[in-house]
Amino acid sequence: MRLATAEINLTALAHNLAQVKRFAPNSKIMAVLKANAYGHGLVTIAQHLNGADAFAVARIDEALALRAGGLTKPIVLLEGFFNKADLPILLANNFQTIIHDANQLAALENAKLDAPITCWLKVNTGMHRLGIAPEQFEEFYNRLQKTANAKNTINLMTHFSCADDVDNTKTVQQITLFDNLVNGIDQAHCLSNSAGIIAWPTGHGDWVRPGLMLYGVSPMANKVGQQHQLKPVMHLTTKVIAVRNVAAHEAVGYGGRWQSDKPTKLAVVAMGYGDGYPRHAKEGTPVMIAGQRYGIVGSVSMDMISIDIGLNEHNVKVGDSVTMWGPELPVEEIAQCADTIPYELLCNITPRVSYEYQP
Ligand SMILES: *Cc1c(COP(=O)(O)O)cnc(C)c1O
Repeated sequence: MRLATAEINLTALAHNLAQVKRFAPNSKIMAVLKANAYGHGLVTIAQHLNGADAFAVARIDEALALRAGGLTKPIVLLEGFFNKADLPILLANNFQTIIHDANQLAALENAKLDAPITCWLKVNTGMHRLGIAPEQFEEFYNRLQKTANAKNTINLMTHFSCADDVDNTKTVQQITLFDNLVNGIDQAHCLSNSAGIIAWPTGHGDWVRPGLMLYGVSPMANKVGQQHQLKPVMHLTTKVIAVRNVAAHEAVGYGGRWQSDKPTKLAVVAMGYGDGYPRHAKEGTPVMIAGQRYGIVGSVSMDMISIDIGLNEHNVKVGDSVTMWGPELPVEEIAQCADTIPYELLCNITPRVSYEYQP
């Protein structure tokens, strides 16, 4: 019996990519595939994103895995290279690099390379994580133009910190700062993550960088993907492995954290934090069995979770499929119940979960 399974709907993935194009019709698409394509399976997801113009990842190993999988599109390293010894690897594999600080620029200038590398100059417009200060822009841009190790087309990018909040004026400030800085420079401009694509059309630029929305999930606070005509790609399921009666006041699970004040019936399901399900999911976090919602009770353990199905539920039986999240049970809602964000839940899927790709 197959237990924890992530069914990956490749038709939904294609739909979401088309939806990115509808949001940003004049922009090229750099599909963000870091962290195993947000837990969906790096190479298979990449293979089914033919309409993307480039891929983006966070680590060189992720980029190498894409090449090993036969993917030939340009690949952008979102944090650039970490060591000058990486540069020949970038060149040999046609990886493009972000340049976000002085060390990277100096390493690039001083390297002995047979050919130039395509660079994306990252400007800090308010995220204050990576990126050069706006005051440094001119110097960096000129030096990149001068070095033989960088291609003359120098793409320009920035990253939003608050684009998921439509009431926050920070994003407009970031867009304005970036636009003023790069105004009149005839190079490709790249600003928006999923939230920028959905909520900030003036920040679309020449390239967009969708991650989460490709997987059918909303980056916006208190929204679900469906509200942006996105379709969830992952359906995380498992099976009921026991159905049992508990008496009133029998404490269930580790720490005896939960008890019913009346007799009830529990379904025990084969899913836990060992599969990536969040241990901090609150009592009552929904699961679905045969189209019906039930709430989890007690502590999420490594391999199992108990579900209160009620004394009068007679249809639920061992072997029944249980949805932990998916098209009918948004991962955004589960994330809220676990005080986290859907990004984390998707990335946390562990190797114990089997993947089933559906055309
Ligand atoms: C992860 C990442 C993205 C994608 O963000 P989403 O919110 O998943 O769309 C875009 N740009 C950068 C620099 C990133 O690190």
